[in-house]
Amino acid sequence: MNNLIKTLLAITSSIILSACSGLGGGNISPQQENALGAQQERQVLSKVRLIRSGRLYNAVKNVGSRIARVSGRPDFQWRHHLVDNPRQANAFVLPGGKVFVYSGLFRYAANEAELAAVVGHEVAHALRSHGVKGAARRQKAGLIGALLQVGMGVAGVNPQTAQQVNQVYGQGATLGYIRPYSRQNETEADSIGLMLMAKAGYDPRAALTFWAKFGRQGQRVPEYLSTHPAPASRIANIRRLMPQALAIYKKSRYARRR
Ligand SMILES: [Zn+2]
Repeated sequence: MNNLIKTLLAITSSIILSACSGLGGGNISPQQENALGAQQERQVLSKVRLIRSGRLYNAVKNVGSRIARVSGRPDFQWRHHLVDNPRQANAFVLPGGKVFVYSGLFRYAANEAELAAVVGHEVAHALRSHGVKGAARRQKAGLIGALLQVGMGVAGVNPQTAQQVNQVYGQGATLGYIRPYSRQNETEADSIGLMLMAKAGYDPRAALTFWAKFGRQGQRVPEYLSTHPAPASRIANIRRLMPQALAIYKKSRYARRR
């Protein structure tokens, strides 16, 4: 039975690898991303309550538009929403540049520069189409799982074994195929986000103070199980990029204006 599992996993992983190669960037158009984002935005807006005025709202709008302006994607339909939810210290982005910030995030973001660290990170996800690619990846893994089940049915594999294979496949796909990309995406979003905030004229050192505060409250799961980099590796990555970010910050047109 172990051999059977190994053989099946070898087959499916080779299918996955060949499927992956078709998943590079550039196979979704900006129009498709905008349409997808607009559709998802409507769904989210039907479920959350927005804050549409006040100091925090103005901060989200201001930071959001400054970062959108330096993003190099005027073709995206940028939107910036503040969700009324003081318990959630969170933010996310939808394809095509729809940024949502939860009011709870302001427990950690003490000023616009710290908010810019988060918005820059989210905008970077949108620029790299991480959401769209992640969804395609999960879909593909699910499809392969389903094909595997059908295959085992045809081959007359007994149900218990089939269930075991499915479990092993599910864990393998998550740990080996979906999660590593998620973590790689997080690090990439941190790096690109740092340069974006600097370019928009926000002191990139605020990313260090923000992620340090944010990491202290974070969940303490081992890094390999988490989609988020461990706070220490996140901070180390940002520190490594700081000289480059500071150089961009000093040149930024917003910084000069002050
Ligand atoms: Zn992220």
